[in-house]
Amino acid sequence: LHSPMTSNLAYTPIEEIPKIRDALRQGFKTGKTRSIAYRKEQLLHLGYMFQDNAERFIQTLASDLGRPAQESIFLEINTMAGFILRAYNEVDAWAKPEGVKFDFNFFVTRPKILKEPKGTVLLVGPFNFPIFSTFKPLIGIIAAGCAAVIKPSELTPATSILLAELLPKYLDPELYRIVNGGVEESTKLLELQWDHIMYTGSGTIGRIYAAAAAKRLTPITLELGGKCPVIIDPKTNLALAAKRLLWGRIANAGQTCVAPDYILCPASVQDELVAGFQAAYNTFFPTPEDARTSMSRIVAPHHHDRLKGLLDNTAGAIVVGGETDKADLWVAPTVVRDVKDDDVLMQQEIFGPILPVVPVEDLDSAIEFVASRDNPLTVYVFSDDPKFKTKVIENTLSGGVVMNDTLMQAAMIYVCVKVDDFPIGGVGASGYGSYGGKAGFDTFTHRRPFMDVPGWLDFILKSRYAPYTPEKLKTI
Ligand code: NAD
Repeated sequence: LHSPMTSNLAYTPIEEIPKIRDALRQGFKTGKTRSIAYRKEQLLHLGYMFQDNAERFIQTLASDLGRPAQESIFLEINTMAGFILRAYNEVDAWAKPEGVKFDFNFFVTRPKILKEPKGTVLLVGPFNFPIFSTFKPLIGIIAAGCAAVIKPSELTPATSILLAELLPKYLDPELYRIVNGGVEESTKLLELQWDHIMYTGSGTIGRIYAAAAAKRLTPITLELGGKCPVIIDPKTNLALAAKRLLWGRIANAGQTCVAPDYILCPASVQDELVAGFQAAYNTFFPTPEDARTSMSRIVAPHHHDRLKGLLDNTAGAIVVGGETDKADLWVAPTVVRDVKDDDVLMQQEIFGPILPVVPVEDLDSAIEFVASRDNPLTVYVFSDDPKFKTKVIENTLSGGVVMNDTLMQAAMIYVCVKVDDFPIGGVGASGYGSYGGKAGFDTFTHRRPFMDVPGWLDFILKSRYAPYTPEKLKTI
């Protein structure tokens, strides 16, 4: 099924792009998104789009990413229903004007905070989770009453073709449109004025978006990547840690923004941790074929070559996997031990099923290692010791922090439908802003302070007017 880069994906003609933006602005101006009932209807339609076509999405994701159905269902498709229902059930409450604390001097002005949709949003998605990373933000956009151009990644053409077919059937085309394309089309999009830009992708390209947004003073949310570290407590259950880490690293063939990128492990327990990886590998993949049938593929040949280059040039020792197959865009689940901080594996986000283990002396050196680098999306800790955990939390900064598991933070807002504030996002080099649940609604909403000052209040306010006489001074 996997047929990357050979597709009939029709790019949106460049000259159409400004017209699409203008049409969406007109759609927004009609005011129909002010109705919460309208927003809820669109949210339901989005839910039906994924529900009615789940099989087709599983097939396109298999074609684009060689994904086993289980991963597409568990990591992307099933989660959408929970996110959408959450917004559907709560958007009435989210959109209500907020009261402000009673103040004797101002209460007669009936102050409150209105929740206004920002307008027309540019929503740009990455290749690795073409549904989750593009449509989870769209839920917030719809709930907030905004319009959007959705630009999926050109590296997942089968899914983009399906989206171009389905979106106009399920969502109101006056408010929500797909633009397909690569750099040229994206560049055209960036020349236009938007009311918000929501970008998910690499930090390198994220900087292009941030610069374009700055030029037009457009608010922007950047969901970027980076190297998520794992800090190991030598006293933790190393076999369980290895199992959870290997899964988190190889799901979606490691092409996950919050995947554990490298492990800082006390040198004294590196052998035991590696034995745990070997045991987990043998459990996940009882036969050599399993390591192919139960794995996603690398999205494109150039990414395969990049990963092979890392394996060819690392000075660490490959102790699990290590094989690659360009014809099949496959990279085996791989663990590399005795990796040093200047190794090729430690220069950039790996974004593949390769897990380096970096031996360190102790917790202090692990913390120093993490704190001296860019703030990652997630810091992972495997420990049962509250003091160990607190020390890591207090001495590092990251988008989020997860103890004793991997990837679960992405599912959290889906499982805990009542948790209002579990915003997923980065900090510093891993991005800024967040979405998910109410955080998504808030991102695309302008909180607009309102007051209505009655004429009779001039009886009290009169001393503010000139002429500034000594009598008036006494009454202030
Ligand atoms: P990418 O930066 O290559 O592409 C992202 C989007 O930008 C695509 O739609 C692409 O068409 C567009 N684009 C590419 N070049 C462009 C240019 N020159 N000008 C304008 N637009 C351009 O990212 P990717 O490889 O698709 O995704 C992987 C990256 O995304 C990783 O770094 C990963 O960590 C990150 N990511 C982050 C999150 C998150 O929530 N923080 C989620 C998923 C992926």
